[in-house]
Amino acid sequence: MAGYIAVIGGGWAGCSAALAASKTGVQVMLMERTDMLLGTGLVGGIMRNNGRYTAAEECIALGGGDIFKAIDACARHKNVEFPGHSHAILYDIAKTPTAIEKLLVDAGVEIIYRARINDVMNSTGTHIESITDDAGIDYGADVFIDTTGTAGPMNNCVKYGNGCSMCILRCPAFGGRVSIAGLAGVSEIKGEGKDGGFGAMSGSCKLYKESLSPEIVKRLEKDGVAVIPIPKELIEDHLDVKACQQYNLPEYKDNIVLLDTGHAKLMTPFFKLSTLRKIKGFENARYEDPYAGGKGNSMRYFDIAPRDDALQVTGIDNLFCAGEKAGLLVGHTEAIVTGTLAGYNAARMIKGRKPVALPSSTVIGDAITFVREKMASPGGLGKKYTFSGSILFERMKEKGSYTTDTKKIASNIASLGLTDFFLKE
Ligand SMILES: Cc1cc2nc3c(=O)[nH]c(=O)nc-3n(C[C@H](O)[C@H](O)[C@H](O)COP(=O)(O)OP(=O)(O)OC[C@H]3O[C@@H](n4cnc5c(N)ncnc54)[C@H](O)[C@@H]3O)c2cc1C
Repeated sequence: MAGYIAVIGGGWAGCSAALAASKTGVQVMLMERTDMLLGTGLVGGIMRNNGRYTAAEECIALGGGDIFKAIDACARHKNVEFPGHSHAILYDIAKTPTAIEKLLVDAGVEIIYRARINDVMNSTGTHIESITDDAGIDYGADVFIDTTGTAGPMNNCVKYGNGCSMCILRCPAFGGRVSIAGLAGVSEIKGEGKDGGFGAMSGSCKLYKESLSPEIVKRLEKDGVAVIPIPKELIEDHLDVKACQQYNLPEYKDNIVLLDTGHAKLMTPFFKLSTLRKIKGFENARYEDPYAGGKGNSMRYFDIAPRDDALQVTGIDNLFCAGEKAGLLVGHTEAIVTGTLAGYNAARMIKGRKPVALPSSTVIGDAITFVREKMASPGGLGKKYTFSGSILFERMKEKGSYTTDTKKIASNIASLGLTDFFLKE
């Protein structure tokens, strides 16, 4: 079988797309502009909280479970409860990138690091023939998947945020994000922010554990979570700028909420260092990500591609998208499930078959349609969508589709005739 798929962007969406396509037997190359996989997932860690549990188990039942199983194997803590969130897994941010790299390499994916794509050949205006990286190397392929995310580059953080905060995306070192759909001439969508601005600020930072008091570290390592009340006079409120509306709760304003992902994940977009150091146990606090976590964080939700429910980008006949690129979707789980569908559909296209959408009787299919429709409705671009909270989780609860009963999830997929769907032709 001839045919090559090029996946551009090695975050959770790109890794999942590459794996899903490769598992159907097609040749896949994955281009990543930096020297590590996982993108913003390099500093994330929270999985399976609230409705993300249902979506993860559904993806496993559909035959797209390898990434979830690899993440589970990198868990530092399971079944963690923290304000507004239940049964979370916290993965180890140091181990996960190499575990996923091995999974992809073993599946036959060719990973090309430090390949920032900055040009596309699109002579008809509707079909991409090849792409070119910063070094001038051309890559031809039959089908392309844009998983370049929506975060940064620096000019967006300067224009819409508090400036470059030196985050894990490392734009000064590797060059900023470049959208493939944008290069192909697609007119893209921006998330709406506060006061007529655009984008939203990333919602968490990482502190060095060794800069915190031994008591806090001990609690974190035992329970996975530490909730420390902030003295009233030191409370800072940055919740309304957050991308992650599922954490926009008073508990996150009144307390320091820390989660153990290897470093101490601080559940606020930023917190002034001089104020933080006034809190007991934080006297020596220091940021690991972003380095300037005392002043701001990365800005996201720029350059979202218009797409259908099979995740094909509107206007280009051989381009798919997934993850944040496919909508105002927040989260690793959201990136993995959409990445898996985009990779599967790109492989179908190579085999001459029509891309398909998942039915709305699945939580994944329903979310993909719901987000697309909501984004086209008044006010919809000012919202964020995640299985773990806010309007999408509320919808799951209303529809009765949120469950942690793995057998029930598998039997729903079986009743739809979709067991191992992603592994079939
Ligand atoms: C600080 C922070 C903490 C978070 N914590 C959590 C959490 O705990 N749990 C959770 O579920 N979600 C979390 N999220 C949200 C989650 O990380 C994202 O929504 C999700 O991982 C997005 O994945 P993605 O693959 O769509 O995009 P990204 O992660 O942005 O990946 C895009 C990739 O594309 C690459 N790229 C961009 N342009 C090019 C180009 N032209 N050529 C080649 N490569 C390119 C980038 O380098 C990057 O690796 C967090 C986000 C942030 C920023």
